Amino acid sequence: MLTVAALGAGAVASGCASDARNGAGGAHGQPPQLAPPAQALHEYAQRVRANHTARAAAARYWGLSQVPLAAPPPPAVKPRLKTRKGFGVRGHAQLPPVFTTVPTERKVVFLTVDDGAEKDPAFLRMMSDLRIPYTAFLSNYLIKTNYGYFKQMQDRGTALNNHTLNHRYMPDLSYKAQRREICGMQNVIEKRYGKRPELFRPPYGNYDRDTLRAAKSCGIKAVPLWASEGFADRMAWREWDRDLHPGDIILTHFRGSDDWDGSMTDMVRTVMKTVTGRGYAVARLEDYL
Ligand SMILES: [Zn+2]
Repeated sequence: MLTVAALGAGAVASGCASDARNGAGGAHGQPPQLAPPAQALHEYAQRVRANHTARAAAARYWGLSQVPLAAPPPPAVKPRLKTRKGFGVRGHAQLPPVFTTVPTERKVVFLTVDDGAEKDPAFLRMMSDLRIPYTAFLSNYLIKTNYGYFKQMQDRGTALNNHTLNHRYMPDLSYKAQRREICGMQNVIEKRYGKRPELFRPPYGNYDRDTLRAAKSCGIKAVPLWASEGFADRMAWREWDRDLHPGDIILTHFRGSDDWDGSMTDMVRTVMKTVTGRGYAVARLEDYL
């Protein structure tokens, strides 16, 4: 599998069917047998082609200006996470790292979707059709009206992570109250969806030392913030150069026409126009953390 993963899709896709199959030729009308490495390459190439064809058709259907780029296979070794300069608290080395960009040289970015107010079925279909991975950070007071929507999301391969019970401004709360907000949401997600999150994002991106201590005590391993934000009609940037960088985390929200000048599917078109237009693929955050 290492060889397969190390090869680029282009190199794999050329000639595997003709060369390998002819060489291995099956006798007695059986399908030709390939040696295991060649078979693995062949299947990988078929998957790459099928994925691209599906993604191109989906891009047309959902009105994207360009076909989203496929993310490379997950890295064999996960990057070492470090807290971003200026984002640390006292004694941070013992606490979950806080970052806005994942250290990688690959042209990948990560999409994260917060809160849970809007529950647009078209968004689920669109992301599955386009095969764009994303990670959700959920607040219980918003998702409790329809836990089933997020179950469908999980069934489609999206990780459900912690964004507190009630979306309070954490630095105003005592350690105990912060712990209730974070551990409480861990319990809700575990009970409803069977898995205790490892990622936590504080509401508004605001936290103090108690927030990170509480998060750690609730089982949180990392605190991803964001480098840019996607809306239905525009992007907003944290960095002065107003650009994407390898490993950047993009924030957006489960919101619709009540808050935005557009829908969640408009938001996906806006974000992907920027991401694909600048030569980036969206990768799974969990593959890198
Ligand atoms: Zn939020």
